[in-house]
Amino acid sequence: MIAGRTGLWILLVAALAGCGRANSTRGAARQHAPDLAGMEQLCGNPSLQGVKLPRITESNPQCGIRNPVQVFYVSGVEMNPAPVLNCDAANALATWVDGAAIPEVSAIGERLTRLRVGSDYVCRTRNSVPGAKLSEHATGNAIDITAFTLASGEVYTILEGWSSRAFGAVMRRIYKKACGTFGTTLGPDADAAHQDNLHFDVASYRGGAYCR
Ligand SMILES: [Zn+2]
Repeated sequence: MIAGRTGLWILLVAALAGCGRANSTRGAARQHAPDLAGMEQLCGNPSLQGVKLPRITESNPQCGIRNPVQVFYVSGVEMNPAPVLNCDAANALATWVDGAAIPEVSAIGERLTRLRVGSDYVCRTRNSVPGAKLSEHATGNAIDITAFTLASGEVYTILEGWSSRAFGAVMRRIYKKACGTFGTTLGPDADAAHQDNLHFDVASYRGGAYCR
């Protein structure tokens, strides 16, 4: 009975989050038009609009989220596909979008309309390496951002935008400001696994924030 319910949630979450599927297909599976009427404020934070989800459990008891939320909008900026996170991560995301992403884009006379999400909640190890430590993604602590979309229609991916003349400096400023709001930030300067995404998580370390 319990196993059956767990299985059902895994299916539900898999459908919602494209859990464990390749990035190219997971987005398409989840891009239902957000119904604003059905959304609510999340985590007591007026910046966060989305839906509350039932508790996520997995066969691996280290994975899961007790009170998951799916964030569709942060202060009007669409999150696509809408990430499944815990409230610590969702609140950090809101702080970063409100305090860094929106104002830095506005500072160049543009408006941020959408953030593309590469990964959110997924029960896996770090960088999906078998036997490695459990990823912060496995507890809803982490989100990966892969692109910024502006009101002009311009889309800047992390892969190409990081070094671009048009948006590279802005992207780096936005990324740097995430340090501290998130306990760990990893970008293209960190390693090969982060050439195309900005990894943010709310894990805390005794030595302070880890930002590369
Ligand atoms: Zn990540």
